[in-house]
Amino acid sequence: MNTDTIKVDVIIVGASLAASAAAKRLVDAGLNAVALERKALPRHKVCSGILSPRGHRFLIENFGPLPREILHEPTSCRGVTFHFPSMISLPMDFHGGPTPHLNRMNADYWAIMRSGVTVHDRTTFVGLEDSGKDVMVIVLRDGKPVMYKARYVIGADGPKSPVTRCIYPDYQKGIPWFMVGQKMHAVIECPLDDDYFHFWFHPNLGHYTWCHARNGLQIVGVGFPVGSKTLSKAHMNAVEYLEKKHGVKLMDAEIQEGSSHNFGPSLINRYIFGKGNVLITGQSAGFFNMLAEGMSCALHSGAIAGEAVVEAIQRNKPVQDIYRSLVISETQRCTDQWNPLKIIFNNPHEADFKAEFKRLSGKDQQKVVLDIWRFLKIYAPFKWGRQILSQSLIRLLTGKYSSDRWL
Ligand SMILES: Cc1cc2nc3c(=O)[nH]c(=O)nc-3n(C[C@H](O)[C@H](O)[C@H](O)COP(=O)(O)OP(=O)(O)OC[C@H]3O[C@@H](n4cnc5c(N)ncnc54)[C@H](O)[C@@H]3O)c2cc1C
Repeated sequence: MNTDTIKVDVIIVGASLAASAAAKRLVDAGLNAVALERKALPRHKVCSGILSPRGHRFLIENFGPLPREILHEPTSCRGVTFHFPSMISLPMDFHGGPTPHLNRMNADYWAIMRSGVTVHDRTTFVGLEDSGKDVMVIVLRDGKPVMYKARYVIGADGPKSPVTRCIYPDYQKGIPWFMVGQKMHAVIECPLDDDYFHFWFHPNLGHYTWCHARNGLQIVGVGFPVGSKTLSKAHMNAVEYLEKKHGVKLMDAEIQEGSSHNFGPSLINRYIFGKGNVLITGQSAGFFNMLAEGMSCALHSGAIAGEAVVEAIQRNKPVQDIYRSLVISETQRCTDQWNPLKIIFNNPHEADFKAEFKRLSGKDQQKVVLDIWRFLKIYAPFKWGRQILSQSLIRLLTGKYSSDRWL
């Protein structure tokens, strides 16, 4: 065993987008931080790579102009098109114009390098012990244990978050999990507009069904609660539907990838922010916007976690109190995206659904409302599906958003 302990101000677990944003705040404040990443960098990341306008602004403001090599082809996305079973399609442009189509392998590496943080890759976090004064972190590198000692730890380690498991061993058993998978196909014929990310509100297809162009291939993706169906059947069903209803003709898939995700906490307002000197941020904290958009909230919540540590050190105050008070704006923004009442009465998204809806004839508006109602009913068999509406009503009546006091 290597007995030398590496001493730093802050350990960040993960070297993705939430980690890069946290790192930027820490490095800018002159703190000595190290990001630990289990994979060799640059690493592959399953993601459509469609960045929201807010995420785009964050990258430019914090890391500078985006180089061409961090983008896929097509290099940008104009917006999202919603498709309904009644065959009405609603293309909605992002506010402020097209946004980048990120190649996550190169983009994440670019962001973490631009943050200026020291990165130790091929280094897997396995455990921690928080004494209240500092945190001992144990990792495996080349199969051997290595110890770090830090004043604070930021868990930016994604959906399955080993850091969260350490401090709340039962948390992940109590949240909804989604299986998400995508396959990439060579295209015979595809009438769908390449400039948009396409999303289907169809009860027979599943909870998430999407399609978009990338590097000459067409991605078809499906998502559903873990255990409710199989990836291959759900995918085949989506491909057949696209061919029958939209004339999309694809070759057999060349590449396929999938994994389970914690896409539930922001749906039901059940985030997790950490304990003692350990903060949780990004997707591990439960941040996930509607339409599978997780990059902008990972960036913003990550920056807030970094900011909270800087404040805690400079003002000698408990980091958890600072983090919880700063992160509420992101929590509110993210939770509102799923709130049916906010969607009807406000405009929580970065593309204007209401404006496009208003352009439809009265008859088509009725069809869309009916289609959405039928789609939402597929959430009813799940306890958390019913929680969405009750949570929305509670928030509307009390104005209260989640801290993790419900734990
Ligand atoms: C199929 C699919 C499509 C998506 N499409 C989009 C999209 O178009 N737009 C969008 O905005 N979002 C999309 N998302 C969501 C988005 O990818 C995530 O929300 C976002 O990457 C979360 O960022 P993060 O930094 O919190 O965590 P992650 O990006 O998950 O990063 C966590 C990092 O921690 C590392 N790590 C994990 N465990 C350890 C450990 N023990 N030790 C050290 N390191 C560890 C991981 O290797 C990883 O690098 C998609 C997700 C999926 C699954």
